[in-house]
Amino acid sequence: MTRRQQATENTLGYVTGTRRVTVYLADEQGIDVGGCKYAIVCDEHGDLWGANTRADAEDLMRHPDEWCLPCETAKYGDRSRQATA
Ligand SMILES: [Zn+2]
Repeated sequence: MTRRQQATENTLGYVTGTRRVTVYLADEQGIDVGGCKYAIVCDEHGDLWGANTRADAEDLMRHPDEWCLPCETAKYGDRSRQATA
């Protein structure tokens, strides 16, 4: 656990979450996700993504491997290394 992850454990802006990913209202958490309403946070790696609708946020929440690089690497292997080999 990093300091940053501990800081997001309060319920301010909390919308929903799974075992690995939490969705927050970006404004209430003070998270900058390019002006998006929702911030999707990988609890394991601390990577962030933004969404403007709750439906999008919930979809992204179920697929952290599509926006969290460490999750993607864990699922698919290191694609950048394969590409340059
Ligand atoms: Zn991750």
